[in-house]
Amino acid sequence: MTSSSARPEGACQICTALRDFQSGYLRTLNARTVQVLCNIHTWMVANAGDAGVVAEVFLRMLDSPLEADLDDAQCDLCRRTSEEENARIERFAQQLSEASHPLALINLWQLCLPHGRKLLGRVPQPLRPSTLLAIGRHTAELRQKLTTLARDAKARIPVRPGLLGRAAEYLVAKRGLGVRKLT
Ligand SMILES: [Zn+2]
Ligand SMILES: [Zn+2]
Repeated sequence: MTSSSARPEGACQICTALRDFQSGYLRTLNARTVQVLCNIHTWMVANAGDAGVVAEVFLRMLDSPLEADLDDAQCDLCRRTSEEENARIERFAQQLSEASHPLALINLWQLCLPHGRKLLGRVPQPLRPSTLLAIGRHTAELRQKLTTLARDAKARIPVRPGLLGRAAEYLVAKRGLGVRKLT
């Protein structure tokens, strides 16, 4: 792609907002609101937040009955993040339906693939073609870059650093964000 490419290399706006949301949640962690944490969020909590509060959270987790049928799907932080995510997608879909240039706005937000898909499920019918077009352009651009990288790597030509990380972020959203299916 040329420099007029639709997708400058930046981060998905929804991923970025959700990372900020998680950081805020960890900073103001309240042991009473947490009972179950998934693997990713247990480690995040262990490494962030107030040590006294983290210990309280872990004590509550230890107190869950052994026979309780708990799994990652019940993680309180995943659930809160997912609610925030859905609210943001809804708001963005609403903004798009009021925008005079929806395609430009979608490009500006640089959505990752999971968030692009979620948005597609929420935009009003008349906006679906623009949304599909924007997602399709991003995907085509990434495909082209990865194809070049694969070819160069096989030919032992130095490859652009960082592209695989950005590709992973585009494919599955930012590291540490459990992007859930819309319910
Ligand atoms: Zn995203
Ligand atoms: Zn979680």
